[in-house]
Amino acid sequence: MTFTETSLQITGPADAGWDAARQAWNLAVDQRPAAVACANSAADVATAIAHARREGLRVAPQATGHGASALGGAQDGALLLKTDRLDAIEIDAAARRARVGAGALSGDVAVRAGADGLAALHGSSADVSVVGYTLGGGIGWLSREHGLASEHVTAIELVTADGVLRSVDANSAGIDGELFWALRGGGGGFGVVTALEFELMPLTHVFAGTLFWPGELAREVLNAYRAWAETVPETVTSTVRLLRLPDLPFVPEPLRDRPVVDVCLSFAGDPADGDALVAPLRAVAPPLIDTLATIPAPQLVRLHGDPEQPVPGLGHHAVLRELTAAGIDALVETAGHASGSPLLSVELRQLGGALARRPEGAGALGAIDGAYVLYGVGTPVTPEVGRAVDERLDAVAAALAPWSTGGAFLNMADRPDGAAARAFDAPTRERLRALKEAVDRDGLIVARG
Ligand SMILES: Cc1cc2nc3c(=O)[nH]c(=O)nc-3n(C[C@H](O)[C@H](O)[C@H](O)COP(=O)(O)OP(=O)(O)OC[C@H]3O[C@@H](n4cnc5c(N)ncnc54)[C@H](O)[C@@H]3O)c2cc1C
Repeated sequence: MTFTETSLQITGPADAGWDAARQAWNLAVDQRPAAVACANSAADVATAIAHARREGLRVAPQATGHGASALGGAQDGALLLKTDRLDAIEIDAAARRARVGAGALSGDVAVRAGADGLAALHGSSADVSVVGYTLGGGIGWLSREHGLASEHVTAIELVTADGVLRSVDANSAGIDGELFWALRGGGGGFGVVTALEFELMPLTHVFAGTLFWPGELAREVLNAYRAWAETVPETVTSTVRLLRLPDLPFVPEPLRDRPVVDVCLSFAGDPADGDALVAPLRAVAPPLIDTLATIPAPQLVRLHGDPEQPVPGLGHHAVLRELTAAGIDALVETAGHASGSPLLSVELRQLGGALARRPEGAGALGAIDGAYVLYGVGTPVTPEVGRAVDERLDAVAAALAPWSTGGAFLNMADRPDGAAARAFDAPTRERLRALKEAVDRDGLIVARG
């Protein structure tokens, strides 16, 4: 069954191209929707919602499928509503604003904004959608200075479960005002976003890069990093990772198939101060590779080396309130070079700074209470390896549990383990629940968490 209503294209299981249509970016997720709708316009989104209602289907909006595992199969049997063709990007350089469609990718926005000497508050991946990333809050290389990406959203266009196309912003009142609040970090279950408008930062260059050392130095590096991270200005955002990269040509030869520890950072202050800033890190030991340098700001979106093609991944996260020497020991023992860990990466993403401060008029998330996000990921190349990856992710989370806030950050919550409840305090949860009840009482729109 392939038919067209307006320009909406709906593909069903018997149609050619079905497997490609239902495939998520995360190849570990075998999505089994009832049908896949590809929207070319906001009108198509409304048509898809009406179609789903007629057919008795729920609607699962999806741009790329980076977050497909978090749905926990809720997309199975639903209408998977693909927004990737809504990829328009408009930059208003004078106003320092971007307006992007629901399918626009972070890497493309970074390049377009960069052409005007501007930077978006994107994360570490070039091929996540700006909308999916921002609906979950969005933390990236400029976050400790500027806060969550969702706090820089100025307007949102969406189609709600009643099929109404709405445009909401800070001046909206009533339900529209609540939608503008909820969609800034509260997840995506309140409608299907068709476009997002947000602020851009004036930034042409940053001092940024990565220091890689042999994994055997993990304790020394992590302890030096911990001391350093406590002192750096808010213009620094950083991560520290325990890596085991594959033996593949795209991996630099010194890093292939061996335990590695790295510190990856961005400094948006005066680049001339960069070398002095990172001197305590460089002093730990001679690195295998040192890429720290002044770079054009659009290159930040590729700093972390995240995969830009679909890959299979199993991930898990926790929010830590602090990083202590004992926490470092626990991390190295469960994920370090001698641990036998099958994980590709276990990292700590630095929070704090503006991420810890809830701005006036903030959205549903507003701030993150914690010092680091712990995120581990592995590649389930076989079912056995997948089980080993999951067990190790559990073990790492358990080892670091004494330092966990018990909270969650939706964007890093790959498992459908109640993160949506743990990401917010009780009044926020209740306000989100009341809004969902008001705009989507039947639960038509699938949400993560
Ligand atoms: C390699 C990698 C790196 C990452 N790095 C970062 C990072 O640095 N910082 C960070 O904060 N996050 C990061 N993430 C998490 C990422 O931001 C989330 O997974 C995000 O949800 C991806 O958005 P997407 O639209 O590309 O994915 P999708 O799977 O398409 O969407 C995820 C969810 O967002 C919602 N959604 C998407 N589009 C719409 C829409 N139009 N309307 C309503 N709801 C919608 C839906 O609930 C959907 O299930 C990373 C993820 C990966 C895999």
